[in-house]
Amino acid sequence: MKVLVINCGSSSLKYQVFDMTDEQVLAKGLVEKIGLPGSFLKHKSGEAVNKLIEAEIPNHEIAIGLVIDALTHTEYGIVKSMDEIGAVGHRVVHAGEKYASSVLITDDVMAALRECVELAPLHNPPNIMGIEVCAKLMPHVQHVGVFDTAFHQTMPKSAYLYALPLALYEKYGIRRYGFHGTSHRYVSERAADMLKKPINEVKVITCHLGNGASVAAVNGGHSVDTSMGFTPLEGLIMGTRSGDLDPAIVPFLMEKEKMTPEQMSNFLNKKCGVLGVSEVSSDFRVIEDAASAGEQNAQLALDMYYYRVKKYVGAYAAALGGVDAIVFTAGLGENSPEAREHICQGLEYMGVKLDLSRNGVRGKEVDISMPDSKVRVLLIPTNEELVIARDTKEIVTQARN
Ligand code: ADP
Repeated sequence: MKVLVINCGSSSLKYQVFDMTDEQVLAKGLVEKIGLPGSFLKHKSGEAVNKLIEAEIPNHEIAIGLVIDALTHTEYGIVKSMDEIGAVGHRVVHAGEKYASSVLITDDVMAALRECVELAPLHNPPNIMGIEVCAKLMPHVQHVGVFDTAFHQTMPKSAYLYALPLALYEKYGIRRYGFHGTSHRYVSERAADMLKKPINEVKVITCHLGNGASVAAVNGGHSVDTSMGFTPLEGLIMGTRSGDLDPAIVPFLMEKEKMTPEQMSNFLNKKCGVLGVSEVSSDFRVIEDAASAGEQNAQLALDMYYYRVKKYVGAYAAALGGVDAIVFTAGLGENSPEAREHICQGLEYMGVKLDLSRNGVRGKEVDISMPDSKVRVLLIPTNEELVIARDTKEIVTQARN
């Protein structure tokens, strides 16, 4: 079965086509600047073929139409017609409490996802639109939703509730949901494989350190806690998000700086994090270079970032009652030996011994701890698209039988 994976953002769209007989990627690409000047589609098929298509792309329907044209193109396409695509898997950020695993898209599922728009106003609307447009342009294939929140639905109440009157949980659904679930699930499963143990026997702390960043405590394959909360703002310091704060800072700043709730939310999501502290960039490559060149605020931003991740690792070792492996993944986790070294520094007391020469690698699945390290430190490139393709194939196959 060939599976098309779609990740639809507000002005961008990423796609991949997998041949699920051997899980090979037949084609992948992205559309950027949808509805903006300078929009384009970058398409890659096989190892060698790269195609840049610059076009006016005013909306997602035109964008997905262009993706279909690229996939069926006589020269650089990978199928003769879209009838060869067996199913479509969609990444959806928020499914609330309704879904603890991926599901076949039905009218009821769409209604549930629309109910979650209030909880993820930036993410769910484009995700929903992507499903609607694909369903319109590919009416004969089945569509599957794979949710960022689903993996964390196993958290116990004591971990997912906030200490607010419980009535507010009932009334507004205020609780910790957690995100990046597809990534935490993938790397924790890979970690069990690398440890050569059954997943139900391993305790793993997974650090997804990308533009957005979160840590999860995974016990026996189940998420028991994670650092992102009601929204993706909580927890780690991120590229532009503050992460954890004293909540009293919010009304204080709103009053002092005369900010509306929307301006405050925008500020905490877009102007804080390592960007706000370093005043250099939200991109860790730029910050690392600036810190090496002696920019003190860039170094401070990095130190604060590493410290916050380390605190969560310590907290989750306590939550799990021990840990077999710490996993690093996503942009920074996969590519920055410096970040991994600083985060692991000082964790020797709990049995973490990083191998500094092995730690020099980037983007490969590898154990980077010393042979005598009690806790394994693993570098595992994440692959959310593959998880979406696998779930999609499984669910569509089950539905057909
Ligand atoms: P997203 O959350 O957008 O999927 P990614 O997982 O791609 O993000 O991570 C993006 C982050 O990873 C950026 O901040 C980028 O600076 C960082 N990153 C990527 N490559 C490197 C590298 N070689 N060294 C340090 N940081 C890197």
